[in-house]
Amino acid sequence: MAGKLYLCATPIGNLGDITERVLECLKNADIIAAEDTRNSMKLMTHFDIHTPLTSYHEFNKYDKADKLVSRLLEGSNIALITDAGTPAISDPGEVLVKKCQEAGIEVTSLPGPSAAITALTLSGLPTRRFVFEGFLPQDKEERQEIIEELKGEYRTIILYEAPHHLKATLRDLQEAFGERRLAIARELTKKHEEILRFTVREALSYYENQEPRGEFVLVMEGRDRRKDEAQKRAAYEEMTPKEHVEKYMNEGMDKKAAMKQAAKDRGVSKRDIYNALV
Ligand code: SAM
Repeated sequence: MAGKLYLCATPIGNLGDITERVLECLKNADIIAAEDTRNSMKLMTHFDIHTPLTSYHEFNKYDKADKLVSRLLEGSNIALITDAGTPAISDPGEVLVKKCQEAGIEVTSLPGPSAAITALTLSGLPTRRFVFEGFLPQDKEERQEIIEELKGEYRTIILYEAPHHLKATLRDLQEAFGERRLAIARELTKKHEEILRFTVREALSYYENQEPRGEFVLVMEGRDRRKDEAQKRAAYEEMTPKEHVEKYMNEGMDKKAAMKQAAKDRGVSKRDIYNALV
């Protein structure tokens, strides 16, 4: 019978955040696949776990995933852990999960800490709707494309960043989002945990004078829908109802649809538009 893959969330700093289920799973699994086996040894030693470790990281994720799938098909139970947090979030776990699903292997998740959600909840920014971007691409063009996409985003945006890339990322964000509110969550759950709240511009000038140290999550507010709507309304109010309807007809709408849209934009009834036109 095939084994099972267990996605085990591990602490993002404070070892007290490990769950009982994860500890039990790590002790009972046949193998633990870990992103950095040396780093994970500390966790193993602390919790007195002696299960064999094997490495599964960014640079072997495809070949090694195939090998792990073979082991699972032979009946081994494998626990997957990453350096910290929830496997498959901005780490190679995603590839292994996909390959397991394709091979018909059962996968289950033992939930626990994730830096993204921890930072979001502490940010003080809207949490009802959010989007997780992970690390922005290093490639300049790809990065610019994503930033362009994010300009239209109304939801709160969560980004990961390494300390040595933080300033460059803040510089790029500043060009696009200078006055947006930004919460920087640093060293979450650790002794020096700190949440700094700035605008993007202020964050950049802060880190221009201070070397970033530790681990960071950036939580940035999305576009302000109310402000956008007020601006649109102000622009519409500068047009007469006739000009407004004509604008849509010039864009290819028929008269009825153009009147309907103009009425909606101005917050009035279709009859009001009709009356203004005649
Ligand atoms: N899978 C992990 C998770 O669930 O959060 C994330 C892995 S990703 C490779 C590592 C990134 O997570 C770091 O570069 C940093 O942006 C963020 N991170 C991890 N631990 C953190 C912490 N204690 N405080 C702030 N950010 C952290």
